[in-house]
This record gives sequence, structure tokens and C-alpha cells, in this order.
Amino acid sequence: MNKSSRNVLLTLGVVMSITILFLSVGPYHENVLTSMGSINAIVSSATCPTPHHEQGLLAQRRANATMVMLVRNAELEGALNSVRQLEDRFNRRHGYPYVFLNDVEFTESFKTRMTNIIANSSSVAFGVIPKEHWEQPSWIDEAKATSDRNRLSMAGVKYGDSIPYRNMCRFNSGFFFKHDLLQKYRWYWRIEPNVRYHCDIKTDPFLFMEDNDKVYSFVLTVYEIGATVSSLWKHVRDFIKKNPEFVVPDSSMGFISDSGGATYNLCHYWSNFEIADMDFWRGPAYTAFFDYLDSTGGFYYERWGDAPVHSIAASLFARKDQVHFFEEIGYQHDDWGHCPLMEERWQNGRCSCDREHSFDYNVDSCKAKWDRFMYG
Ligand code: GDP
Ligand code: MN
Repeated sequence: MNKSSRNVLLTLGVVMSITILFLSVGPYHENVLTSMGSINAIVSSATCPTPHHEQGLLAQRRANATMVMLVRNAELEGALNSVRQLEDRFNRRHGYPYVFLNDVEFTESFKTRMTNIIANSSSVAFGVIPKEHWEQPSWIDEAKATSDRNRLSMAGVKYGDSIPYRNMCRFNSGFFFKHDLLQKYRWYWRIEPNVRYHCDIKTDPFLFMEDNDKVYSFVLTVYEIGATVSSLWKHVRDFIKKNPEFVVPDSSMGFISDSGGATYNLCHYWSNFEIADMDFWRGPAYTAFFDYLDSTGGFYYERWGDAPVHSIAASLFARKDQVHFFEEIGYQHDDWGHCPLMEERWQNGRCSCDREHSFDYNVDSCKAKWDRFMYG
């Protein structure tokens, strides 16, 4: 064989091996490309380790889903803690993307350090929230808002006097899923700084949600502080009266009201952990519901949390079998946490939490009520 035909054969061989390699990599091929593309585009100044080395470990199937964290620059350390745990306990085997949102620009250091610990994900994006999705609208009567804030503050209600907290609650209620960076996704997993994931999460919660026709999920359910939602239920009732078609026949009204809908029992799913379907928030029922609630000014005159707002909507506009409790996900926010109570799950997940401290059946938890409502 002469030199030039040997070269031709060699070239052919190399081309064929590359083709076979790409075909056999299959589903990861796209990951690698989006990963490199989006990370480079978004964090141009950050040096990111290439994700190739761990690609072989990634699960084959992935939902159209993202992690999402609203966070301040000053919370970087807490945010790294949360993300590192979620990566170790779950996402290093899946490579789901992350979206970080902030009302101001993220610092270069935030972006670089965060990207550095989640290099295996298919994309890491950092976005700024448009002012109209964050700030108190100009039509709010500021004199009334001020006196109402003072009243809550005097009553000792946590964040009673805080405007940023109200911006955050309103944003999480009605706007996060409208952010540009979230448009391409259907499912999200909400994360906060300084939370803990106690157990290995061995099955993909997004795929579980998708495959089982779920809309909303939770791990902790608690009573809201009554003073923060004084008039919320009255407005919910007004909305239902005007739009009865949005309430599904098999709703969870019985979980949030002990009086057939006359009053609110203050139970809600704790939204600092949420795995849910953004298409539900984007749909006609929730769009009309949020717009109506927002038009009353209650996010500012009172201090409506995104947790009761989301929970009431999930309870009324989704069927009860579309709301899911993730027993196997051990989770901690401040002093309140859920630890899988079933021995087998606790062992299987190599959980670090103490089951005796799980909040589930604490007097301040609504889980017993939920059990009774769901399972009779
Ligand atoms: P709590 O859980 O109700 O006590 O409220 P947090 O202080 O934990 O806030 C809820 C989430 O919103 C967390 O992820 C915070 O990082 C985020 N957050 C709250 N206020 C602000 C804010 O003013 N700016 C930004 N960027 N994030 C905020
Ligand atoms: Mn929190």
C-alpha cells in the first residue's frame, strides 16, 4: 500500500470512528453542545471545567425541566451549599440546567463560583428580573401600604414592614415563570440558599411528575400567619364566584377549607421547596386568578405569600390526585424539615436526618390534615 492510499484509509477510519462515537453517545450529544454553548455565552469570563468527563454517568431520559433559584448576591455561600447538596444527592446523575434570578445583576464572582460547582449541568444561566415584575406597581396607594405595613410590623409579624419581601412574594406568585430564561422549560424545582437535601434522590422527580400527570408537589405543609392573608380568602371566593368553571370537580378544597369553602384554614404547601409544572401557572385559570388577586393590591396592603397563593390555586384548579407529596425527599429549611419516615426509604436514601425530628406530624404541620383528606 503506498503512502497516499494509506493516508486516505487513515482519514476514512478517523471520520468513521468520530461518526460512530457521536451516534453512540446519542442523547448526550445535545447536552455537550448546549452545555458548552450556553455556559460560554452566559458566563463569558468564567473558566468552566468541560463537562465531558462525567457525561457517561448521566441518566438517559430527562424532562424539560430546570432548577431555579431567586437569590441575592450576598447569599452566595448559602446558595453554593444548597446547590452542592442538590448536585451530590441528585443532579450529578441527571445534569438538569439551572436558572438563577436576581433583582440586580449577579456579580462576576457569584457567576464564576456557582458555575464552578455545577459544571456537569447542561446549562447555567443568570438573569435579571425586569422592574415591572419586581417593583411595587405605581397604582398601589403608598399611604395605605405604609400604614398597613406599620400595622403588621407592630403586631410582630415577620417581614411585616418589608417591601422587598413583598416584591419577592409577588414575583414568586405571578412572574418567575414569565422570565425569558424560563420560557423554554415546563418543569421547575425551586431552590433556596441554605436549605438542605438530606437523602439521595434516586428516582427523577421531574419524570415522576410528568409520567403520573402531576402538577404540583411538596414536602412540607404548614399554617400561614393569619394576619398576612386577612382578606385573601374573601378575594378567592369572589374570584370563584365570577369564574366557577376554573374550579375542578375533584379539587382539594377539603384540604384548605374545613367549612366547604366558606373559610380558609390557613394550610398551605411550603413553597421554598416546589417541583411543579409552569404550564399550570401559565394556563388560563392561574393567569386570571393571579391577575385578579394582584389587582386588589393585597400583595402590598397585606403580605400575601406565594405559598398560600400557589397552594390555593393548586388546590382548586388541579385535581387532588395531581398534587404529590414527595415522602422520599429529605429537606430542611431553617428549623423545619422533612425526613422520610419509612425506614426503608430512609436507609435507601442514606439520609442524614433524624426521623424523630421530622416536622410531618408536628402540631404546626398540616400533613395530618392532608393525609385525612387524601386517604380518608
Ligand atoms: P423566607 O423563606 O420566607 O424566610 O424568605 P427568604 O428570605 O428565604 O426568601 C425567599 C427566597 O427569595 C430566597 O431564595 C431568597 O434568596 C430570595 N429573596 C428574598 N428577597 C430577595 C431580594 O430582595 N432579592 C433577591 N434577589 N432575592 C430575594
Ligand atoms: Mn427561605
